[in-house]
Amino acid sequence: MSSRPPSSESKPQTVYQEAMEVFHRAADLIGLDRRVRMELEEPDYEHIFYVTVKLHTRLTPLTESADKYKDLGESELLPDGLEPLLDGSFVFKRRALIGANVAMRDGVVRLKGKGLYKVVPGRPERFKAYRVQHNQARGPYKGGIRFHQDVSLDLFKVLAAEMTWKTAIADVPFGGGKGGIKVDPRSLSSEELEALTLRYMYRLKPLIGPDLDIPAPDVGTDGTIMGLLLRQYTDGERERHRLRGVVTGKDTRIGGSEGRVKATGQGLAYCIQEWFAERGTTPAGSTFVLQGFGNVGSNAAEILCGLGAKLLAVNDAGGTIFNANGIDVNDLIPYVYDNPLNLRRTVAGFGKAQQISKQDLWDVQADIAIPAALGGEITGPVAERLKVKLVAEGANGPTTPEGDRVLEKRGIEMIPDIIGNAGGVTVSYYEWIQNKRMEHWSETEVNGRLEQAIKSNYRIIRDIARNTPRRTATHNSTRYCIGKEVDMRTAAMVLALKRIEAHYQLEGFSQ
Ligand code: NAD
Repeated sequence: MSSRPPSSESKPQTVYQEAMEVFHRAADLIGLDRRVRMELEEPDYEHIFYVTVKLHTRLTPLTESADKYKDLGESELLPDGLEPLLDGSFVFKRRALIGANVAMRDGVVRLKGKGLYKVVPGRPERFKAYRVQHNQARGPYKGGIRFHQDVSLDLFKVLAAEMTWKTAIADVPFGGGKGGIKVDPRSLSSEELEALTLRYMYRLKPLIGPDLDIPAPDVGTDGTIMGLLLRQYTDGERERHRLRGVVTGKDTRIGGSEGRVKATGQGLAYCIQEWFAERGTTPAGSTFVLQGFGNVGSNAAEILCGLGAKLLAVNDAGGTIFNANGIDVNDLIPYVYDNPLNLRRTVAGFGKAQQISKQDLWDVQADIAIPAALGGEITGPVAERLKVKLVAEGANGPTTPEGDRVLEKRGIEMIPDIIGNAGGVTVSYYEWIQNKRMEHWSETEVNGRLEQAIKSNYRIIRDIARNTPRRTATHNSTRYCIGKEVDMRTAAMVLALKRIEAHYQLEGFSQ
């Protein structure tokens, strides 16, 4: 029987309640133990705290009273001391004054070749920070750190719970956690971002550890941020080297794993390969559309194109591009990542493709759609428009429950996020083991293990979905099938819940 409160029509569901729908569906289906269900329904801990950081002085474009400064002479500042930000302003560093020639009136300067700017003095700023620790029945909490302006406790609860399911599905000995800071990292200078990251870890340190809670990169964070987090966590410790596994996704030169940067995209590509293999074919000659050209999207695209698939359209935060003959991903990657003028790291403006609207992306006829940006993008109406055979989820929670129902109705198949993007956490586990053992594995070894892990867990989920219990040389689904067919997302959740439930059943509850 379900332990959910009765639904009230007047009270809209929270994002968390909506995301937990599939949990409740699978729990009902397998008759999940009532107490286990209560343990999993809400997170173990929800930490909210604040971090302050001193922001530098900024030069922001002057939009009004320009006439008043007609006769203001030009100022020459050392460009090295001015860091450009997305909103058109500059972060001012003192070294800009070396050999400078400055004319200022009322705190306004005219920068040579750039126009009028108002000096906004530096000030301290407060940011809201989070770490949600959802469940640790299978091992230490594990999950990414997100720096983004649109985060909330509810969202981190969703993402932390999703990590509990994902670590169980990937069969790595971790639980689920997630956290981050409500900030647009692109609105900060590199030094401010470093200060904010260090301060976040200063506050976080009592709550985490290599055997307690292990963060990793997520939206808005990367290997550089992980390096800073590692330094702050281990600073002053006598046995620093033993603590290296406190974060994963580090640079390979400081204990990161080979293959980790590409791992999430690589894992998604292994799932897609397996989807084609079931049909006796390969991704060669297939077509796909992609949302998000960040870590997950760009790596998945590069690997799939390497397997002979064709990328037709890409949408990201800056725009959407389309080419019916295929977009050359080997040209697009340097356009987005190696071009210093492309501050927003966007695909928009890429020369060898047509610029289309975001809505048009979903109308492009292709074999596969890969959402690899933010959550909630494939809504019911979007699912109605899609002209693909398969949605392969790279992002976390990109399809809404209504989107799921429409895809199911239209017979569009699904590789759900909890297996689709589990490559990242799987290689994070390999990184953690390498850190514990002081080893460094080759990329071939990492990818060999990853392929085996992702494909065998994918096969178990597929067997649960089709109710075809099997024991082969590479996988055993006999323990998990439930005697009837279910959709892939529910099947993945069934696998997660059965693996987690086993810990409570076999170990019992601490009192
Ligand atoms: P990223 O920051 O590297 O890239 C995000 C991409 O999404 C960028 O191309 C950005 O332009 C695009 N984007 C942002 N807002 C958008 C919008 N409103 N519309 C369209 N595009 C938008 O992030 P990432 O690491 O590639 O992560 C992408 C997704 O994958 C997230 O949902 C993340 O939680 C999930 N994920 C990432 C990993 C990982 O290892 N990086 C692992 C598991 C899941």
